[in-house]
This record gives sequence, structure tokens and C-alpha cells, in this order.
Amino acid sequence: MSIHILDSSTINKIAAGEVIERPASIVKELVENSIDAGASSVTVEIRDGGISLIRVTDNGSGIPAEEVRSAFLRHATSKIESAEDLAGVRSLGFRGEALSSIAAVCRTEIITKTREALTGVRYVIEGGEERSFEEIGAPDGTTMIARDIFYHIPVRRKFLKSAAAEGAHVAEFAEEIALAHPEIAIRFLWNGKSRFGTSGSGNPRDVIYQICGREIAMNLIPVKFSDGGIHVEGFLGKPEISHGSRAMEHYCVNGRYIRSPLISKAIEEGYGNRMMQHSFPFVLLYLTADPEAVDVNVHPTKREVRFSDPQAVYEAVKRTVEGALGESDLIRTVHLKEPGQKQEPGQKKESKQKQESEKKQESEQRNPVREQTVLPSRPVRPAEPFEKVRAEEENQREREQLRAVRKRAEYELREESAGDRQLTFFSPESRAHVRLAGEVFDTYWIAEWNGALYIIDQHAAHEKVNYEHLTRQFREQQVTSQQLMPPIILTLSEREAELLRENEDAFRSIGYEIEPFGGRTFAVRAVPDILPSVMKEDLLKNMIGGLSEEAGARIPELLIEKTASMSCKAAVKGNQHLSKEEAEKLLDEMFSLENPYNCPHGRPTVIRITRQELERRFRRIL
Ligand code: ADP
Ligand code: MG
Repeated sequence: MSIHILDSSTINKIAAGEVIERPASIVKELVENSIDAGASSVTVEIRDGGISLIRVTDNGSGIPAEEVRSAFLRHATSKIESAEDLAGVRSLGFRGEALSSIAAVCRTEIITKTREALTGVRYVIEGGEERSFEEIGAPDGTTMIARDIFYHIPVRRKFLKSAAAEGAHVAEFAEEIALAHPEIAIRFLWNGKSRFGTSGSGNPRDVIYQICGREIAMNLIPVKFSDGGIHVEGFLGKPEISHGSRAMEHYCVNGRYIRSPLISKAIEEGYGNRMMQHSFPFVLLYLTADPEAVDVNVHPTKREVRFSDPQAVYEAVKRTVEGALGESDLIRTVHLKEPGQKQEPGQKKESKQKQESEKKQESEQRNPVREQTVLPSRPVRPAEPFEKVRAEEENQREREQLRAVRKRAEYELREESAGDRQLTFFSPESRAHVRLAGEVFDTYWIAEWNGALYIIDQHAAHEKVNYEHLTRQFREQQVTSQQLMPPIILTLSEREAELLRENEDAFRSIGYEIEPFGGRTFAVRAVPDILPSVMKEDLLKNMIGGLSEEAGARIPELLIEKTASMSCKAAVKGNQHLSKEEAEKLLDEMFSLENPYNCPHGRPTVIRITRQELERRFRRIL
């Protein structure tokens, strides 16, 4: 074959591969265009997971009739003029690739009208070829429809997953964009059924409630912090609402929902030992930085960004989290559930249940729908859903249920935030008013304070107190050595021996005396004198083992943490009676701690049951 320039339809198909991977990519591009167009309301509808149909309707600026065709050309954009503009770009899009890519791989239709124009335009373009262009009546804004993704590109189509799986990707994206933009009312419909709708109130707490459910919305700590030109605002979930993965760590930079190992790390460091190992928090953070300091043109999908000063971003996020958690009342409020109590409609369904119902929906509606676009007669509302009547009825019911639940939640939120402003349980001023009522199961102490019941796990509390004392002693180098006679002889692996040699000083600084004893053998002649006698050898081995996973600079700190954490295990166990005086003393000590809320392993030391909760149970209030 001789060398030749590819025709534009081929070029577009190739280029589309970078931007359009699956239905969710199309939804992402279309919704971002709607947001860039200043829409305050966006409706996303999909069928068959978006494989047979995607429709995104907005009430944004619309496209002037004479520009509609050019919007579908490659590299056509109204958002930047030249490469210089890239540095300060504030819009979500700027590459001018989305519409041309979508039109290259779908049967695409757009209905758009600007506020100034009397009529709108309907333009149909399939596989990059224009099919029709006509003037029509339409509401202000834009409706984009993408049908039959990859219909003429079987190799790409083959790589799509099931409708349920593709739809789940779309749903995830829809949730992310809604969390990123609480000022926009976003609705998501799947096979004609409304999956969620946000109010567009601008309050992130509302969106969290509408998307993540009541449990999370009721356990948030608001944050606001600025440092080094970076502003961080949003909500942290209390440590108790933890997750097994990072899926609930949400953050946006300049209005763009992104993924960033750097920010995740800063968040997790900020939570520190308040989280159990291998569990991750819920957060929703909005970062604002000078657009010039953020490079968003790293990847065609713009899911990653590059910061000009990553350290500043890291510090700002970490300090936001640390600061807020340090000041907050982190005692978890326990809600007593009646046996068989139903879940509230605002709450997220169990994921298994969700998947099953999705599967059912999909199989009910196997036949690909190819309905005509019904043009709304005036006056019109944006976004008429599929199967209008049925969906409307259902929505009405859902809205009523939601309103009732929201009303109750609002009441409780108000009550909680009123509580936040008061003294917290562990503030020094409240100590004198905390009344210990008694002990149960030789393990828990019941206390009363400020209209709530507090249950203290004496074992966890003791562990925490000991741990903090030990850590302080180690840090302040108040630990003396206890000589061992005879010494403990340790035989280590090559790697462990090397680590021990490298960190000799760190070990010495906390009270160990360790000498080489030939080859990979060492003689431990002294240990910190506060170590419980039984665990000297095990502890040391365990610590050396733990070192291998860590970086050098953190080792002294890690040694302190490990030694303290392991030696505090020898503290009071549950099922051991404490006298009232001992319990009062323990409580005094807890009040002196920086973070009294969790034991070193992340378990809570105190939980709370509100008086209101008890009264509800006794049917004094409903
Ligand atoms: P980009 O978003 O990178 O500019 P796109 O291919 O996504 O490129 O869109 C091309 C242009 O079409 C946009 O720059 C914008 O002017 C216009 N456009 C696309 N979608 C909409 C919409 N929903 N409302 C108004 N204008 C739109
Ligand atoms: Mg775009």
C-alpha cells in the first residue's frame, strides 16, 4: 500500500478510541459539556446500560444554529483559543474531541436552542456522516442522544461488558459528578426508572444525603482550610463509617472529580490511627487552587491532574483532615434498630440487592428500544423522561417518601450540629459534669452527660491511655534500659539483619542494646524497661519483621508506635472489675489525651446513645 493520508471518518474513529471507551465515557463527556454550558439542571437517561441509548438533557446555553455542525468537527471548541489558554483553563472540556468522537462511534442526535433564538435545531449525524439538519421547536438548552455505541465497529463493541456492568459504570460516574457539583440538579434514570436526583441546592450535605444515604449524611464533620494557595472545603466522614476500599474517598480539584494517589495518601495520613487497618474513610473534599498550578491536560479523559507543587497540596489536605478530626467530637452515636426495621428510601440499597434488581430490570427490557424523539410542545420542561406517565407516578411517590425522611433527617442534623457547637464530651469543662452510673459485664462503664448515655469500653480506654503514655515517654526519651542476663540471642534473616544494622541508632534511642554476635546472630543485652517481661523476644522479632515494609526515615517513629502498641496490649483486659475510683481515674486520664476516641488499633473507646433514641424506643416520642 502506498503512503496516503487517512480520510477524516477513519481519523475520527481512531481518535474516538482515546476518549470513548464505553457508555460511561460518553455520559462523562456530555455531562461535562452541559456543566460548561452553565446548566443548572442535567438529566442523564440510559437504556441497556447505555449501550442502546444515552440521553443527556440540559438547560444550558445551547448552541447557535450556525455553529451546530462545527461543534461536531474534530478539535472544534469554544473554550480555548490557543495553547496559552491551556494554563488557566477553568472549563471541564477544552480539547474539542468529544462530540466528533461520539458522532464517529454512535448514531448521534442533538436538539439545541439558545435563549436568544426563536427556534432550535435538530441535527442527526451517524458514524460521522450528516443525516439531517432541520429547524424545530425546542426548549432552551441542549439534548444529546447517542444510540447504539460502536454499532459499526464490532471489535470495539465486543469489548463492552454486560448492560448491567456498563450501566453500573454510568451510575458511578453520575454519582461522582453529582457530588462534585451540588449546585446542579442532576437526575439519573436507568431504563425509565429514576435512580437518584439531587436538588441543586448547592449544599454538599444534601447531595451526600441524596446519594450516599442517611447513615453517612448523619456522620459528617465539616471542614474548611486554606494554606499555601490551596483552599480545601467539604466534609469528612467520622471514622466509624469506614469502608474496605477507597471508593468513598471523593475529591475534586477546581470542580473536576479526579483520582489522585497523592490526595488519597494525604487523607489517610490525616485520619491516622483513627481508622482501623485496611479501612478507608468517607470524604468529600473540594480543592481550589490557582488553575495555573494544576495541569489538567495529562490524559484525554482528564481523570488525573498534575500539580506544580504536589507537596503543598499534600500538606493542605493532610492538615485539613488532621485539624478537623482533632477538634471534633468523634464519639459514635449508636442508633438502636427495631428487629426487622425497614430501610429508609433515602438509604443506599445493599449492593447485592442493587445488582439483582439491576439484572432484573435489564432482562425485563432486553429488546433494544428505538423510540422516536418526541418533541415537546410548548410550554415545555426540560428532560421529559421515558415512559413519562409511569415514571412520573413513581417519582411522585418517591418524592413524598423522600420528603418525609428528609424532614426527619433535617431535624436530626440540626440537633447534631447544635450539639457540635457545644462543648464536646471530652472537653475539659465537661469532665466535672460527667456522671459515672455504673459498670456492666465487668467491661463497660455507663456514664451520663448532657442528655445522652455514654458507654465506655474500659479495656479499649486503658489501652489508649497506656499507649499514649508510652509513646510520650519514648518520644521524650525517658525510657531507661533494663539489662538482660543472660542476653537474648536472635538469629535473623539476611534482610532483617541488614535492617537491624541500618537502624541501630533508632533501636538504641528507645532503650535497646543489641550487639552483633557473629553472622546473622545478635545478642540483645538490654530492652526498654517498661516492656512487659513476657514479650521481649517476640516483640523485637515482630518489630524487625515490620520494618522491612517501611521506608527508612519513618523507622524511629515506627519503632515507638509498635513498641507502645504492643506493650499496651498487656494492659487491662475486658472482664476485669474496676472500682469506681479506678474508673474515675481512667476517665480523668482519657480527658487528658489528644485523641481519646479510639484505641491504638482503631476500635472506639466510647459510644453514645442519645436520650431521644431511648425515648423513641420507649415510645415516649415517635
Ligand atoms: P470541548 O468540550 O472540549 O470544547 P466538545 O467536542 O465536547 O469539545 O464540544 C464542542 C463544542 O460544542 C463545545 O466547545 C461547546 O461550544 C459546544 N457544546 C457541546 N455540548 C454543549 C452543550 N451541552 N451546550 C452548549 N454547548 C455545547
Ligand atoms: Mg466537551
